[in-house]
Amino acid sequence: MSHVISRFAPSPTGALHLGHAFSAIRAHDLARAAGGRFLLRIEDIDPGRTREEHVAGILEDLAWLGLRWDGDVVRQSARLGLYADALDRLKAMGLAYPCFCTRAEIAASAAAPHGPAGAVYPGTCRHLDPQVRAARMVAEPHAWRIDMAAAIARAGPLDWTDETAGTVPAAPGEQGDVVLARKDAPVSYHLAVTVDDAAQGVTDVVRGEDLFAATHVHRLLQALLGLPTPFYHHHPLLTGPDGKRLAKRDGAPALALMRQRGMDGHALAASLRAGAIPAGIPPASA
Ligand code: GLU
Repeated sequence: MSHVISRFAPSPTGALHLGHAFSAIRAHDLARAAGGRFLLRIEDIDPGRTREEHVAGILEDLAWLGLRWDGDVVRQSARLGLYADALDRLKAMGLAYPCFCTRAEIAASAAAPHGPAGAVYPGTCRHLDPQVRAARMVAEPHAWRIDMAAAIARAGPLDWTDETAGTVPAAPGEQGDVVLARKDAPVSYHLAVTVDDAAQGVTDVVRGEDLFAATHVHRLLQALLGLPTPFYHHHPLLTGPDGKRLAKRDGAPALALMRQRGMDGHALAASLRAGAIPAGIPPASA
């Protein structure tokens, strides 16, 4: 067996749609073509939005598409201790600070510039007086943010490699002090995904190009935590006949709906492999 390990890492906050199928097939086929392993990781770190029925639906959808994963399904909610350890290490390096701001306060900040992932945190809590900070930590819910400038200074110049883009200099700075642990969830997407890809020995990260900018942050976290850097394959997002993205938030139909209507999942997977969206897809509003 080769050393190639890829993964599909959906968040069970909604049903899978065609875009997910496209991404899962690419990750699966990359591992299978290399005689490697394809892992399934359920990214259920958001207790407010995770639904068990979506976890079950993901497993059924993948089986319906003919995609088999290797080993046990990993659930991030069972791995919170690992993320807490990583956060503790960043705190010990002086690179993480508690943030008490509400979303509304951040949005209202006139200074908030925009980066690739939306509004950039203006740094309000970065330099709080230590006594004020300590008192507020006891009394108020808080997130943890990275001190991006300090983290970049500590890590030095970094790059990563993408199948299409080639060698990419890491440029996480424009995303500002991103969240490492949320007020309402024990860890952020960025930290959990970085820790898990390393812990699971993932060599090849296959995901949509909408997560390209996130990789800059993941590369920085890898450097700070002494973790290996996988090879990245950011693929174009699937578009419909009208050229528009087929994403859930754009109303793409759920795989479960197609499954329930008796569509052939293996045939759908074959069409997606050939770069086509098959006829007979229910309308987006269905
Ligand atoms: N859980 C993320 C999502 O569903 C994807 C994570 C990743 O592939 O890095 O959007």
